[in-house]
Amino acid sequence: MRTNFANIRGMLKRLALSVLALLVFQIVLCAQTPNPRTMAVTIDDLPYVKIGEGVYLTRARTATSKILSTLKKYQVPAVGFVNEAKLENPDDRDARIALLRQWVSSGMVLGNHTYSHPDFNRLTIEEFQEEVAKGDVVTRQLMRSRQPYQLYFRHPQTHTGDTREKKEAIDRYLATRGYKITPHTIENSDFIFNVAYVLAMQNGDKELASRVRAEYLDFTIAATEFAEKISPQIFGREIPQTLLIHSNDITADCLDQLLRRFSARGYKFVTLDAVMADPAYETKDTFVTKFGPTWLFRWAKSKGMDVDFSGDPDPPKWVMDLYNKR
Ligand SMILES: [Zn+2]
Repeated sequence: MRTNFANIRGMLKRLALSVLALLVFQIVLCAQTPNPRTMAVTIDDLPYVKIGEGVYLTRARTATSKILSTLKKYQVPAVGFVNEAKLENPDDRDARIALLRQWVSSGMVLGNHTYSHPDFNRLTIEEFQEEVAKGDVVTRQLMRSRQPYQLYFRHPQTHTGDTREKKEAIDRYLATRGYKITPHTIENSDFIFNVAYVLAMQNGDKELASRVRAEYLDFTIAATEFAEKISPQIFGREIPQTLLIHSNDITADCLDQLLRRFSARGYKFVTLDAVMADPAYETKDTFVTKFGPTWLFRWAKSKGMDVDFSGDPDPPKWVMDLYNKR
């Protein structure tokens, strides 16, 4: 009997300790997790990125309607970054502009993503300035009714200048013209998944397409978890996140599930203006690179911090293989 009582006492003690540990863990977690978490959604390469067969306008209309109705459903005030060179098709220029008008009338903000999406690494400062200047001629007309609004710019491939001279020259050029450079903290390589997805769909391989979709969603959440984990190491707290995705088919078909999963993680969708007002986003990005890493990486480097980014996930090999096979 005595041994049994001792056992029960021991068990109760262990149970009490476990409960206590769990409580402490939750208190620590609550202190580090903003309530609610916030996120700005930014969508690049408007009006639409076409992969594979089909008429651009038809496919662009379908994707645009799906994306906008999903954004509306979750009350997401997104910013769409336009490449106006994509409007320059004599047969349906007005119809392509109408796609952008849909974004504006749905309450979204349009930003400048350069005229033709060149890689700044391959351009001179002057050539890139021209791309910026030509980048939002139509966009500004469409946004006229929304004056005053913040002008946003995003570099193609988020290549911000591969030399200090180029980076500083374009930073200055953009600032004097009233643009804010748009950072991103979460990137999900959706352009890679999109190629694999569209080709599977067009080959009639529904099973593969659904595997790509599932992997894409899991991968986005893994990238989000990483951003949530790494930002306290840079700023001492979780900061508002900025998601970068594209106007393409995988976004059109998965955005609903994606936003649902973000909501389940406690995210509230806010404007880019609201996210940019967070002090963390005032951190100066002085990091020069020919690559396009997230701003979490750039801010850590700019602050001279030694943060371990090795856990930042990459798309799985089987998806990369499908992308490279195209
Ligand atoms: Zn782009």
